[in-house]
Amino acid sequence: MQKLQRRTLVKALAAAGIASSTFGLQACSSNDKSQANGKRVVIIGGGFGGSTVAKYIKRFDSSTQVTMIEPKKTYMTCPGSNWYLAGLVDVDYLTHDYETLKTKHGVNVLHQMATGVDAVAKTVTLDNGEVLEYDRLVVSPGIDFIYDAIEGYSEEVAEIFPHAWKAGPQTELLAKQIQEMPQGGRFLMVAPPNPYRCSPGPYERVSMIAEYFKKHNPTATIMVLDPKTKFSKQALFGEGWRDVYGQMIEWYGSQDGATVTKIDVASKTVYSDFDEVSADVINVIPAQKAGKIAFTAGLTDDSGWCPVDQDTFESKIHKDVFVVGDACIAGAMPKSGHSASSQGKMCAAAIVSSLNNLPMPPTRNVNTCYSLVAEDYGISVVGVYENKDGRLSGIPGAGGVSKAGASLQERKMEADYARSWYQSITKDIWHS
Ligand SMILES: Cc1cc2nc3c(=O)[nH]c(=O)nc-3n(C[C@H](O)[C@H](O)[C@H](O)COP(=O)(O)OP(=O)(O)OC[C@H]3O[C@@H](n4cnc5c(N)ncnc54)[C@H](O)[C@@H]3O)c2cc1C
Repeated sequence: MQKLQRRTLVKALAAAGIASSTFGLQACSSNDKSQANGKRVVIIGGGFGGSTVAKYIKRFDSSTQVTMIEPKKTYMTCPGSNWYLAGLVDVDYLTHDYETLKTKHGVNVLHQMATGVDAVAKTVTLDNGEVLEYDRLVVSPGIDFIYDAIEGYSEEVAEIFPHAWKAGPQTELLAKQIQEMPQGGRFLMVAPPNPYRCSPGPYERVSMIAEYFKKHNPTATIMVLDPKTKFSKQALFGEGWRDVYGQMIEWYGSQDGATVTKIDVASKTVYSDFDEVSADVINVIPAQKAGKIAFTAGLTDDSGWCPVDQDTFESKIHKDVFVVGDACIAGAMPKSGHSASSQGKMCAAAIVSSLNNLPMPPTRNVNTCYSLVAEDYGISVVGVYENKDGRLSGIPGAGGVSKAGASLQERKMEADYARSWYQSITKDIWHS
């Protein structure tokens, strides 16, 4: 094995945000790409988690052979998809390809679906029948939906009342429905129970739909029926909704009896103890679980998510298999793109360390969630996490949340930071 200069590796890690003066990776390999030498990594999923792992393994140790399996030729981000519903950005803004990962970093991207994993034989089967061998496997498939939790709801009904909780055709369908809603009509969101992808996401979404209605349908109303008693950044969203949209948005939680139990498609009505409510556009965001392949691979526990070591993200069920992103149980870290990418960097360092028989460096994970309440009105929450007694926990005093009662100037600055965050994280993962 040729030697990578420690200085070069530490520089790469610094860019990843995990440099440490005590970092133990001293002798990884160099630019020799000819041989994988027992260093074959297969990654399932090319979203925030999987693409980050792919890029950073190649940055830390370019001699590792990295194959990423992702059915889509381009990836549309959920972050920013609410801005699209408001008409603030277009589909191109949200869409990223895998060219830089392929050509600059040497990641082998296969546009296939992984259909099976044999964790004993260390193989992954693809839907074209091909079988790939791995030394380490990373699974980052995102989420799947629990359709049968609400009577009358199903995968087919989701094409009529789109969840749009995976960005793509349903996001475009929901935008069309919002644009075609009658003047003075009602938009109804059925919010998901915990745990789910992107805790502030539903509330940013109704904010962005209000932004659209304010311009194009000012007498429209928005109602949220929520099976939870509270939600992320609730006080800040409430302040913004009152200040920017007056009475347009009404929110009801489970304490109001707002847990929806039944849906009738024909009459566009949802049922709960709160009331029977009819609406012109209905956005049902169902309960969630880990992406299907995580179940097929036997990586989930009774919770429907994947238990992992909180430093390395190695599965607690299958050795040499790692799970990052929404599908894994990462203690107090929210299921977000930023979390998935942060975990992806730690996981890449863990894999490079283990493949080169080096100690794992100390880890820290970070999450930042920006939400737009209006085009020029942003709020945010930041958390830094460490492994405390086997669970990722927020470090007290590190991170924070936007302050209540801030000036419009401060809210505008946060909205600008939100757009900068999007540009920098998507550039880091897919375009640099
Ligand atoms: C409306 C909305 C707004 C959001 N806003 C933000 C935000 O502002 N900031 C933020 O940080 N996060 C945000 N999020 C959350 C963010 O989108 C997710 O947390 C993030 O995408 C998780 O990354 P992941 O890699 O786990 O999954 P994904 O990014 O979903 O990637 C999973 C990939 O795996 C692929 N895949 C699945 N199964 C297979 C298989 N069997 N074989 C091969 N490939 C497979 C899929 O095609 C997909 O591309 C938002 C989410 C929503 C819904």
